[in-house]
Amino acid sequence: MIPVDFTVTAPVAPVMAAAPAPTLTLDALATRIAGKPAHVVCKTADRYRQDPVVAGFAATHNGNMPLGYEDPPNGLFVMPSGECDAVTTELIADPRGTSFPASAEIGSDAVAVFVFFHEASHVAEYPDGPWADEHATDCRALSVMPRVLAAVGVPAARASWFERSAAAIHAATPPPYAGACS
Ligand SMILES: [Zn+2]
Repeated sequence: MIPVDFTVTAPVAPVMAAAPAPTLTLDALATRIAGKPAHVVCKTADRYRQDPVVAGFAATHNGNMPLGYEDPPNGLFVMPSGECDAVTTELIADPRGTSFPASAEIGSDAVAVFVFFHEASHVAEYPDGPWADEHATDCRALSVMPRVLAAVGVPAARASWFERSAAAIHAATPPPYAGACS
């Protein structure tokens, strides 16, 4: 892969300073993860459920909807807006977690964050990497988390919580996601 510059575009605010308005967008975050232009389409619950890809998946998976899906040829991925909102809250609005002490972190938000990294990693690997390989994509998502979380201003201890959560989520996945990352 081409080395990626994850330099932050805005300075991290000092602890005592008033929080600045968020300058990072979900697309900018996706682009940081992917290392190339990436766009996320956030669909409301109804629109997500009615999305042909989502509906098609659910039809063959006992009605279960995917957590997101990727469209790497178009440089984008799709997630439910509720998951997008969770990522926005955790990594853009309050990356330092000042309103979310570690003891109050929400597991579903960690899932949303990992799914976001996973889907952006599909975009990252297209067309030259193993972009359609779910295991490789999970492993790439895990590998870039420390660098990206630090770049957007997530403190080390909090980043570690996201990373441990993501590793646990991956560890519990079935094939084709499953398997240790080298
Ligand atoms: Zn995937």
